Amino acid sequence: MFRAVFLDLDDTLFDRTAAVQRWAATMLPELDEADERWLLACDARGRRSRLDFATDLVARFELPTRADVLASAFPLQLASHVEREAGVREQIARLAIQTRVAIVTNGSGAAQRMKLRRLGLDQLVHAVFISGELGIAKPDPEIFQRALRWSGQAATDCVFVGDDPVNDIAPAAALGFVTAWRERDAWPSELPPPTHRLASLAALEQVCA
Ligand SMILES: [Mg+2]
Repeated sequence: MFRAVFLDLDDTLFDRTAAVQRWAATMLPELDEADERWLLACDARGRRSRLDFATDLVARFELPTRADVLASAFPLQLASHVEREAGVREQIARLAIQTRVAIVTNGSGAAQRMKLRRLGLDQLVHAVFISGELGIAKPDPEIFQRALRWSGQAATDCVFVGDDPVNDIAPAAALGFVTAWRERDAWPSELPPPTHRLASLAALEQVCA
């Protein structure tokens, strides 16, 4: 067992694409399949600037709102559409009995904390590191180091779990963490491979055994 387990939030502990689809069903109920594909590409799993995303959305769907207003409202709106996946809360609860468990996530404090509450994880994990509250975001090594200092452990005795090769896995690996990549897209060939690949979060159980 690792001395500490650090977990990304979006697309690691819940399906962000499903949350975007639920958001769209409420906010843009007229979308056809092509619109929905366009929307997901435009969002790029949350990796594009929120203002660029909102600007493109307002233009394509001729929304009666300003792009900057949508860009700042979207994160909390999306958070309100996050849903628990079967078994995830129970799995994190088992883990939190055995070792230190912390979340390391990029986003606003309000949105990320709402997601944790909706997932039933806010009272389960031992620490939460949110870029919007700390003023440092992944892939900046400082946010990983802060989390590590909190744990009091060496990186080599800890695992970092995330879906983003560039923001989660590469910086964690550079600091010496064992890495577990929650597979979503293809692994970028230019990056050294993660220590472990997780087809689902349930696969983390074996990695941590
Ligand atoms: Mg993520």
